[in-house]
Amino acid sequence: MITKEMTSAGGLVFRKEKGKTEVVICKKSGEENVWCLPKGLVEGDEDLGETALREVEEETGLKGDINDIISDIDYWYVSKKEDIRVHKRVYYYLIDFVSGDTIDHDWEMEEVAWVPIGEAEKKLTYDKEKDIMKKADKLVIRNE
Ligand code: ATP
Repeated sequence: MITKEMTSAGGLVFRKEKGKTEVVICKKSGEENVWCLPKGLVEGDEDLGETALREVEEETGLKGDINDIISDIDYWYVSKKEDIRVHKRVYYYLIDFVSGDTIDHDWEMEEVAWVPIGEAEKKLTYDKEKDIMKKADKLVIRNE
């Protein structure tokens, strides 16, 4: 089986509500209780930050500005449809919430929610995204 290298970028959108940090997490459509961060494949000649902002807007309905780079993760999965193994790397950005409403999220997500950052870390399905959340928490405090 051949391995295909793929690159995605995504974002952790945050805002401050009464001094507490709230972030946006997404429940994937068609999967059993999978909570994740918005992300997607890099398209055309866009840079990673542009991909992150576009995917965030498409998947969550929210517009934002890049605040910082958080980190990147990688994982493998097998695509039955294409009969290939995928090695995917995902770059995550800390994103300042600017405008929009989660009601405008797209069909890829069953639910998009603002939650306190501590709750988000518990709810996320993938350990590597939990680590992203921990790093983001530190960055939010450092960048204040
Ligand atoms: P993209 O959003 O980058 O376009 P996609 O929605 O097509 O991608 P993925 O979210 O990468 O696909 O999911 C493909 C497979 O990888 C699924 O089986 C999913 O459960 C698994 N997966 C997704 N994210 C992670 C992760 N952070 N750690 C481990 N496995 C993951």
